[in-house]
Amino acid sequence: MESKICILVVEDDKPIRNFITTSLEAQGFKYIETSKGKEAIVLSMSYNPDLIILDLGLPDIDGIEVIKKVREWSNTPIIIVSARENERQKIEALDKGADDYLTKPFGIGELLARVRVALRHKNSIENQNLNKDKFKVRDLVVDFNKRKVLINDEEIHLTPIEYKIMALFCKYPGKVLTHNFIISEIWGGQAGNETQSLRVFMANLRRKIEKDPAHPQYIYTEVGVGYRLIDE
Ligand code: CA
Repeated sequence: MESKICILVVEDDKPIRNFITTSLEAQGFKYIETSKGKEAIVLSMSYNPDLIILDLGLPDIDGIEVIKKVREWSNTPIIIVSARENERQKIEALDKGADDYLTKPFGIGELLARVRVALRHKNSIENQNLNKDKFKVRDLVVDFNKRKVLINDEEIHLTPIEYKIMALFCKYPGKVLTHNFIISEIWGGQAGNETQSLRVFMANLRRKIEKDPAHPQYIYTEVGVGYRLIDE
């Protein structure tokens, strides 16, 4: 089944692009590639790929512009590739609809892990109507009808905001949610003082759902970016 999955690779740095495409090919994925943003938009329309791996620094248009264009009509997962110094750009890309990111330099294991998560995320979105009553991962169950959160069948008592945050993560398992995104979804505003509030709510939520809040196994911190709920 994986052999039919088609991945669009957009990267102007040839050695990196070759590294990505060779790694994907070895895993049985099909790929199409380009070094230009405008061509990426055209290819994504004509091939409708299952996944897009997108460098942010492209020679013609910015990777962010590619995300905006693709998101006008497609939900296909987008993994951005960014240099370490482009932290702000990376966050903007996630806010504009990218799903995940790889920071250069990255290894093949990290690349393939991100690809697998993004493809699972795509499937879970497509199957959303099959499991909209409950979300389950490992020992964690969120029951949306009863507004209950259970760990090992034991109910965890969350405050209304903690529950709202938890339910938001369940909508996007495996996906990095930026501070901005969470704050606008929960409080409906811009990230300002709320970033600190969010940190406090996250600490409380973790104390309740994680066995060891210092080493969370359900919600990971993406340093300087946001948080990610595991999806398996
Ligand atoms: Ca580049």
